[in-house]
Amino acid sequence: MQAKFRAKLESGQFRWLNEQLYTKSSEDAVKLFADTPKLFDVYHKGFELQVEKWPLNPVNVIIKRLKKLPEKSSIGDFGCGNALIARTLSPKWIVHSFDLAETNEFVTVANSASVPLQDQVLDVAVFCLSLMGIDFHRFIEEARRVLKPNGLLIVAEVKSRFGNEAGSSEESMLGGIKEFKRSLGNIGFKLEQEDTSNTMFVMFQFRKIELTDKKQSNQQSAVLKACIYKRR
Ligand code: SAH
Repeated sequence: MQAKFRAKLESGQFRWLNEQLYTKSSEDAVKLFADTPKLFDVYHKGFELQVEKWPLNPVNVIIKRLKKLPEKSSIGDFGCGNALIARTLSPKWIVHSFDLAETNEFVTVANSASVPLQDQVLDVAVFCLSLMGIDFHRFIEEARRVLKPNGLLIVAEVKSRFGNEAGSSEESMLGGIKEFKRSLGNIGFKLEQEDTSNTMFVMFQFRKIELTDKKQSNQQSAVLKACIYKRR
């Protein structure tokens, strides 16, 4: 009985935290975990329970893809969670893992909007379910700063985040995806691959390209809905 009650409480806390992370700025998220570090464990436990239920975890799809890169390629994992990418690929590949709290020695604590890397050092930047915070367009701009010319940006996001308020019809989702791709195009990322075949998430691969002046003056931020996980 007590275990059941605790599980319910933790599930409620997870959903509350999830909502905070999706509806506030990244600075607020930094502050939240800095003030109460214990919350990070609650978040991650809840997150892992959610993803476990999915037929496929996108981070494993990404790892498979990264393994095809030349050894010693430099990879940035923004919002790395438990840093599975680094734990799987290091030291054959060079992985920099960033998140708001440190769950193991692979993680560097940093806001994705401002990571401790020099300009143009990464071959690949990864965001796996981690475009959280209302200012996530700053994360993508930061990834662009640290990517080498022609570097790759891999994004996996929950499908429902691309739907409109009316629901999650295929049509509204595709509209949301189109907007997302357009706004990344405006900040200098060219879409190379897109996979919408999975039931839970969408996966994109973009390439960093030079920005023409015209596009630069036409910048617009991407919009994504908060991802609401159902009650368990
Ligand atoms: N990429 C991991 C974890 C996804 S959960 C995986 O696929 O398993 C989303 C992660 O993004 C969480 O760990 C959360 O703490 C992190 N995150 C959210 N906002 C962030 C920010 N501003 N900077 C760094 N990490 C952030």
